[in-house]
Amino acid sequence: MDPSLNHLISQQTNPSSSRGGQHNDNNSGIQDEQVLMLVFRSMNFDPHVVSIAACVSRRHRAVAKRVLWRELCISRAPRMVTDLSSGAPVARSSSIGGGWHALAKLLFFCPGPGPGHGQAQGHFVQVSRFSKTSGKSFLHKKCWGDLLYVSDPCEHPVEGKEEDLGVYRGVFRGFMRSKTRACLISKQVQLESRVRCPYCGARVWSMTAANMVPKSASRRLGSYEEGLQYCVCVNGHLHGSCWLAHLSDDDGGGDGDGDEDGEECSDEDEDEDDGRIAF
Ligand SMILES: [Zn+2]
Repeated sequence: MDPSLNHLISQQTNPSSSRGGQHNDNNSGIQDEQVLMLVFRSMNFDPHVVSIAACVSRRHRAVAKRVLWRELCISRAPRMVTDLSSGAPVARSSSIGGGWHALAKLLFFCPGPGPGHGQAQGHFVQVSRFSKTSGKSFLHKKCWGDLLYVSDPCEHPVEGKEEDLGVYRGVFRGFMRSKTRACLISKQVQLESRVRCPYCGARVWSMTAANMVPKSASRRLGSYEEGLQYCVCVNGHLHGSCWLAHLSDDDGGGDGDGDEDGEECSDEDEDEDDGRIAF
């Protein structure tokens, strides 16, 4: 018999032979996982520390991928995660569209203004408020049955511009079965060739190019309609930007010319806070 096969058989029948070596055996994996979970729970899954831990070693990255990112999302945004999981409690083994790592990043990371505005770098955000009421303002009227969470815009000054660039992000529930996706596909909207999702790296549709940006989006953001744009990736992550009107502007708070697209955000109430996330 080939000696290398002998070696394999002895490893399989005698698991201790791999202990202390390069290979992960199950026990040490579980121990690592349990210890790491306790440590991270004690610090309420600080996203900075989880990010650093995920870079420390292959084993830590695997544990982060398997449990830490999901636990971070559940611990920091419980109601939002429940909503995104179709209202069901999140099972330990459950997955989420685009992965938990991408959702965790979305909760805490602003992608920044992007290279088009001279500043490509994103950054961690101290506090974010995600709201599904806000998300509804970003849905085409035909797609109101979808559930979308959108954050408040993060304000970025841009050199040579009077207005600030507002950068916001969001996430759909069950994007694969959403009306928005069905609409994009039935309209045969092409995926963008140069833009990728800052959260999962997947390809994106420009909702501006798809002509699916409702007027309610700029009203919701308090921004100019012109220059407002957002993209949605094939996993249902949204990122976009707008030019923010200064509060001192005369009609900044007004709703302008009525509700011809039928926006009704009557429930701008406490449910706004269900996605408030802070370090
Ligand atoms: Zn994505």
